[in-house]
Amino acid sequence: MRICHTVQEVRDFVRAVRAEGPVGLVPTMGYFHDGHMALMHRARRECRTVVVSIYVNPLQFGPQEDFRTYPRDPERDLCLAEAAGVDAVFMPADAEMYPPGYSTYVEVEGLTDKLCGRSRPGHFRGVATVVTKIFNIVRPDRAYFGEKDFQQALVIKRLVADLNMDLEVVTVPTVREPDGLAMSSRNVYLNPEERLAATVLYRSLRRARDAILAGERDPERIRKCLAATISAERLAELDYAEVYGLPWLADLSRLEGDVLLAVAARFGRARLIDNLVVKVPSAEG
Ligand code: AMP
Repeated sequence: MRICHTVQEVRDFVRAVRAEGPVGLVPTMGYFHDGHMALMHRARRECRTVVVSIYVNPLQFGPQEDFRTYPRDPERDLCLAEAAGVDAVFMPADAEMYPPGYSTYVEVEGLTDKLCGRSRPGHFRGVATVVTKIFNIVRPDRAYFGEKDFQQALVIKRLVADLNMDLEVVTVPTVREPDGLAMSSRNVYLNPEERLAATVLYRSLRRARDAILAGERDPERIRKCLAATISAERLAELDYAEVYGLPWLADLSRLEGDVLLAVAARFGRARLIDNLVVKVPSAEG
């Protein structure tokens, strides 16, 4: 497995293998768990060459957020990537990505006004900018993103379509712990009590889904159901509980089609998110 620290190194690597077949890219911030591994395994199955990027992008963290303390373990990540059959890892330094004089940013409008975009101003500008850069550096045929960060995957799909980027965005289902908690690098922030409390996120989503499957069609009642479940957990501090229409997060007056249930809450220092897509049964059944 090749380890590339500079743009030039990873470009040279990809240039030498491109003719052999499709290049897959898995962008990450490292500190791998089984969610990351699922993306790598999928890319490994579908692409001739697999490149993983590991970069904790300062641009997507707010001033009060956890950029400094975000968990990092590059040596372990490299072992796991190697074992997954990854061909190259791109792990640049900040100065390689944002050298002095850096001035260009990518904004995806509309989609980013909601959910995490509202709670984390500037977050998706940072994500869209770094992902555009990594796409331009690696020039993958396919890029793999997790549904755990559903809004992020939508922002990337919008970006790729709007800027005519010549690649396919592939999304991979959320990998969960046995008790339902979505895997996240930030789960390490949880103490044992908070870890137990955090299972309320997925519980709230399942309860709201069950209500929809039992006939509820009022979005406001679904938002209240999500919020009430989360607020009943003493260690949870609710950030948002929302329902939107898919594919592009439409505001709904009545639930129909495919809808996204999305929640975010704080447990101690950890801000965690989760979501579930529900196919609303049509009146005809
Ligand atoms: P991160 O390192 O947290 O930026 O995540 C890198 C990629 O892994 C993103 O596309 C995430 O959506 C994806 N990912 C993170 N957690 C999970 C999970 N539990 N299941 C599936 N994909 C995930």
